[in-house]
Amino acid sequence: MKYLFLSCIFLVSSCTIFQRVDKAQVDPIPYKLETNRSATYSEVSSYYRSLGKASRYLQVNEVGLTDVGEPLLEVIIDRDRKFSPKDSEVAGKAVLFINNGIHPGEPCGIDASMILARDILDDRILFKYLENVVLVIVPVYNIGGAKNRGAFNRANQNGPAQHGFRGNAKNLDLNRDFIKCDSKNAETFTKLFTKWNPDVFVDTHTSNGADYQHIITLIATQKDKIAPSLGSYMEFQFVPKIYDGMAEQGYDMSPYVYSKGTTPQEKGILAFPDLPRYSSGFAALHHTLSFMPETHMFKTFEERVESTLYLLKEMLRLTSLESETIQKKRLEAILYYKRLQQAPINWTLDEDIAITTQFKGYESSYKPSDISGLPRLFYDRDKPINLEIDYYNAYEVSQSIPVPFAYIIPQAYSEIVDRLKWNGVEVTQLEEDKEIQVEMYYIEDYETSQSPYESHYLHYNTEVYKTTRNQTFYKGDYMVRMNQVTNRFILETLEPQAPDSYFSWNFFDGILAQKEYFSAYVFEDLAAELLRRDPQLREVLEQKKAEDEAFAKDGRAQLRFIYESSPYYEETHKLYPVARIMN
Ligand SMILES: [Zn+2]
Repeated sequence: MKYLFLSCIFLVSSCTIFQRVDKAQVDPIPYKLETNRSATYSEVSSYYRSLGKASRYLQVNEVGLTDVGEPLLEVIIDRDRKFSPKDSEVAGKAVLFINNGIHPGEPCGIDASMILARDILDDRILFKYLENVVLVIVPVYNIGGAKNRGAFNRANQNGPAQHGFRGNAKNLDLNRDFIKCDSKNAETFTKLFTKWNPDVFVDTHTSNGADYQHIITLIATQKDKIAPSLGSYMEFQFVPKIYDGMAEQGYDMSPYVYSKGTTPQEKGILAFPDLPRYSSGFAALHHTLSFMPETHMFKTFEERVESTLYLLKEMLRLTSLESETIQKKRLEAILYYKRLQQAPINWTLDEDIAITTQFKGYESSYKPSDISGLPRLFYDRDKPINLEIDYYNAYEVSQSIPVPFAYIIPQAYSEIVDRLKWNGVEVTQLEEDKEIQVEMYYIEDYETSQSPYESHYLHYNTEVYKTTRNQTFYKGDYMVRMNQVTNRFILETLEPQAPDSYFSWNFFDGILAQKEYFSAYVFEDLAAELLRRDPQLREVLEQKKAEDEAFAKDGRAQLRFIYESSPYYEETHKLYPVARIMN
């Protein structure tokens, strides 16, 4: 009897019963009633909640705030009904994470995901894919932007009739906010992403730019910026399978059309610069296979929703079929980064290497503008052209650094530590004040954007020089050891020269301004005394005067030169405060 009882429990827990959703219990999908209509935020929220009530395999959770006050929703579809991340309970399954409405003016993914969720619960084949996959959907990421709805937010786009706005409640583009996390949305999203540690990530969009026949194009994680074995798996196996699967459904895809010349057919197309500020580049820091499908703005909303829906189904199918391999490749990537002695932190596109790709475009030419009378570009949709174009998709490492044993972050920079923690980085704190021999960087040179960019004046082309010094750190300062699954994330945020480092995003601007100065007439006598005591300094000064006429005529510049070479000059000016312990 006891045995019988146990086996019943076993049967109930191991057999998942496919149960169609009772449609009467579920809110209608507005798009299904009218194909140029995208659901409002409250319709989306209410729809998923009704689906959650109708099916025991779908759960809706509120996971944290967004800038508009509404909580971010997490929709989980799990046929084992664990509804919890793989590390603890769903071991062995891959996690597919779909993000929608980061740009709510491009809402095809919002509506496609609503259909996808219902179809999975309603279709035996799709449901079976959940044997190897847990699906997580963010129905709308930029809720503030989705609520800022109108008919005129997208001048170059063909519907839907009403749609949201790109900026969030703080007018930030959330697809630039993944590292700096200025928005509550990004903080909440980062924690959610870290919780699930997805194997495959899809962030849905609609493109701007050239006109062509393709309904949907695809940005995939830049293969050369991820660990080699993951990169070659992406390039030669996973991505070709997506293209094949889509082609079978009648959707010939092209890589995202980022033209090298004025039109794609003129000089070919360039790989998307997959920086960590963007969703796909951010996910890549966590070794997640990531994708940004971009449906084409001139296609009808129906075509955009349906193509996105097929792509999402294809992602589900492939993630299920490839579940084991993807997880294995990601583990290899983590190990690769744990063992790296010299790590890349910046890459550049190699414009000498192109492959060819099939492109279905339209002939383009110029005609007089009705506005200015000057020649204007136009694409002739009566003249489709199918051709091979060059696709520049090879990146090379342009900068690499020796990986330290650990970084030390002074506790004054707690906002950095918060962001690292949100991303799953483990930090410990010093238990007492300590002098430690470390490597530190001086910021030697950098450029800064001249106008505000996403609430920041971004630094770039940063150059540093290294010093080794004994530096005192205090009880409570943070240590980040480089033996973590998040090694890549740590490197590309803490190394100041990395393009999306916290330095680049202005978290360390305090060090860039001098705090003490000298008064010229007072310093004159002291400077003369310093030169008397230091003949070598005098020699360097004289040489500089001989070589530089302007310098020779500028008394203030000469005083400044002596000041900066003297012990009075502050050591902390431009000293990047995150230290590197090398052994
Ligand atoms: Zn977009």
